[in-house]
Amino acid sequence: MIKKNYLLAPGPTPVPSRVLLKGADDTIHHRTPQFIEIAKKAFEGLKYLFQTQNEVFILASSGTGAMEAAVANLLNPGDKAIVVVAGKFGERWKEICSNFNVNVIEIPVEWGDYIEPEELKNILIEHKDAKAVFTTHSETSTGTVMNLKEIAAVVKDTEAVLVTDAVSSLLAQELRTDEWGVDVVISGSQKGVMLPPGLAFITLSEKAWKLVETSNSPKYYFNLKAYKKSYPDFPYTPAVNLIYQLAEATEMIKEEGIENVWERHRILAEAVRNGINALGLELLSKKPGNVCTAVKVPEGVDGGKFTKLLRDKYGVTLAGGQGHLKGKIFRIAHLGYMSKFDMIVALSAVEMGLNELGYKVSLGKGVMAAEEVFLKEGV
Ligand SMILES: *Cc1c(COP(=O)(O)O)cnc(C)c1O
Repeated sequence: MIKKNYLLAPGPTPVPSRVLLKGADDTIHHRTPQFIEIAKKAFEGLKYLFQTQNEVFILASSGTGAMEAAVANLLNPGDKAIVVVAGKFGERWKEICSNFNVNVIEIPVEWGDYIEPEELKNILIEHKDAKAVFTTHSETSTGTVMNLKEIAAVVKDTEAVLVTDAVSSLLAQELRTDEWGVDVVISGSQKGVMLPPGLAFITLSEKAWKLVETSNSPKYYFNLKAYKKSYPDFPYTPAVNLIYQLAEATEMIKEEGIENVWERHRILAEAVRNGINALGLELLSKKPGNVCTAVKVPEGVDGGKFTKLLRDKYGVTLAGGQGHLKGKIFRIAHLGYMSKFDMIVALSAVEMGLNELGYKVSLGKGVMAAEEVFLKEGV
């Protein structure tokens, strides 16, 4: 059987052909009015995606580059920062902070769980000298979303700035940067934004810029002052063709309407959860979000073999587990350029794959439960 490929992992995600084709436009020189015109469109689009009036800067790196930029630009060696570690990406915040000799106060959270605003409030009272709180809006490694709005309300009344990793949550979860008072939001191109990998984004509030003024941590390429000074031009050669694509993708998102994009992700996530429940499988997360659904690999099934079978025989790429969850979970993404029949493909592949590996689930039962959600929602 010929194999069609379905990319249903939480990054990189499928890129619409309209966006792919934009990348084929002739590369032009970046110091020209023609390019600045396109860059301005991309920058305006990003403000809409981040729901902010502040500038959103574009870095030529993957999402992790913007994480590093946040730490390097906000803090000094020896500064105290609170880091919520609820999975692989919270760990990354901790690692970057440690590399910049930041004094890390870790809040360890069991993978799949989340932090309550009240708990953070108490830790902030205990550590009044903390300069920043690092969080992960959607912890992609566990499929868990945190209460960012409530957390922001807690941090707002303190000296600390709130930094959130929204690499996977941007467009999949409601995120209102200015209204909620999130000081620093970072994201990347290859997830909800529907672009190929290669760009990272970062936006900062006035409160955060005050910290930038006093930071002397080493940095050169990621010195955000240079990006602010050049805006809407770039200090160094930007990823020209990716920026064409960014302008196009933000246009598509504007056409759909950001509230509708959030709602689409909510419905897709609900349908997948309903399908998984109907198959009698167990979710990992205590607060599953709209980015991806993390499912426990059932007893007796080799998780690595399962995702490999789906990818190599069926052409369906789901994600496995990261860190200590490797082989123990699989993750179905509902992120970016995806719609209802992508979820049907994912659930059908799960049903067939488990049966092929000798774990009996009723064929069609998960698919049916997802279809019921779509019909109920009228989509
Ligand atoms: C994907 C992702 C990142 C960034 O990963 P890169 O490979 O550097 O783009 C960071 N945080 C979260 C929550 C992610 O999902």
